[in-house]
Amino acid sequence: MRITDIRTASLQGNFEWILVRVYTDEGLVGLGECYWGAGVEAAVHGIKPLLIGEDPHNIDWLYQKMVRGMSGAGSTGGAIVSAISGIELALWDVKGQMLATPIYNLLGGRYRERIRVYADCGHGAQPTPEAWAEKAKRVVAKGFTAIKFDLDNVDPESFGEDYHVGVGPRKGWLQGQQRPISNREMDTMIRLASAVREAIGPTIDFAIDCHWNYNTRDVIKLAHELAPLKLLWLEDPVPPDNVEALKRVTDNSPVPICSGENHFTRHGLRPLITTQAVDIIQPDIPHVGGLLEAKKIADLADIYYIPVAAHNVSSPIATVAACHTCSTMRNFMILEFHGMDVGDWWNDLVVGDQALIENGYIKLPDKPGLGLTLNEDVARAHLKPGASFFA
Ligand code: MG
Repeated sequence: MRITDIRTASLQGNFEWILVRVYTDEGLVGLGECYWGAGVEAAVHGIKPLLIGEDPHNIDWLYQKMVRGMSGAGSTGGAIVSAISGIELALWDVKGQMLATPIYNLLGGRYRERIRVYADCGHGAQPTPEAWAEKAKRVVAKGFTAIKFDLDNVDPESFGEDYHVGVGPRKGWLQGQQRPISNREMDTMIRLASAVREAIGPTIDFAIDCHWNYNTRDVIKLAHELAPLKLLWLEDPVPPDNVEALKRVTDNSPVPICSGENHFTRHGLRPLITTQAVDIIQPDIPHVGGLLEAKKIADLADIYYIPVAAHNVSSPIATVAACHTCSTMRNFMILEFHGMDVGDWWNDLVVGDQALIENGYIKLPDKPGLGLTLNEDVARAHLKPGASFFA
C-alpha cells in the first residue's frame, strides 16, 4: 500500500479545526485533525511531497521523516508539529482500517473503555461570581464531574496601564504577560473561584487556568489563597519558556501545577517531566506530535509518577483520536472538552445517533481505525470562508 495524496478541509469551530485526509492506492482513506494556528494548513501541504509513495504502515519512521524533512537536524515545534500531528492521526486511521482493528489495539491496548473528560467553562458570561456560579451549575447539570475556569485578566482595570499591552477592544487581554497580581485583582479572583466551588459543592473536580500570565512570586501567593478550594490543578501559572521558573512555582504551590500544552514533541516535554517541574503533564495530542508521540511522553511521565491531563480544543475527530491514545496510557487522568459553547454541531460532525459525551465520559468506538465517519453535510456547512473541502 502506498500514500497517494493528502488533502485538508478547514472548519470554523470555536477554534479553526484543520481536518486532514490521507489517501492510499488501495482506496483506504484516513482522517485526522491538526491543532489550529497560522501556517498549519500550509505546512500540511508542504509536508505532502515527503509522504507521497511511502508505505503508510511505517508510522514511526514517517514521523521522523516529517520532523527531519521539515526542520533539518530534527528540533522543531509550532505549526510544523501541529501539521505533522494531524497527518499522523490520519495515518493511524489508515492502519487501523487496514488491519481491521481500533487504533488503541495498535498502541499497546486499552487500560480503560471510556475516557473521562472535563468541561472548559472559559471566563463565564461575565466576570461576576453570579455568572460563574450559574455557568458551573449548568455544566455540572449536563453530567460533567470536572470543570475548568480561566482565571486570567478577570479584572483588567485593576492591574495598571503598564500591563495593558493589548490594543483596541482587546486591551488588557494579551496572554503570557508574566505580570504582577494586584490586591484588588487577587480579591476578584478569589471571589470568582469561591463562587464556583460553592455552586458545585465539594466533590466535583475544579481546575483553574492562568494562561501563562503571572510572575512566579505572585502566582505562588495566588496558589496559597486558592488552596482552601481544593482545586484539581492550577494550569500554566507562568509563561511556558522557562522550566526552572515553573519548577519554582510547583515546588512552592500547595495546589497541583499542570502545564505542557505549549510544548512540542518528547524533547519539549522532557525537562518538565525529568526535573519534576509539573505535578500533572498536559500535552495537546494533535499539537505535540500525534498519538504515538503522546504515548511516549505519557510513558516517560509514568516513570516519574506524573499523571497526564491531555489538553484539547479540537473537533470530535482529534478528540476521539486522543481518546484512543489516552486509553492506552497507564497514567491517564482526564481529557479536556472545549466545545461547550459550540452547540450541537460539535457532536453532529460525526455520523451516529448517540452523543459522543455522556455523563462526562467518551466511550471508545470499537470500529476499525479511528472508528468515526465524518458527517460531510455538517462539515461543509461550517467550512471556513474560502476554504476548500478536501479538494
Ligand atoms: Mg490551558
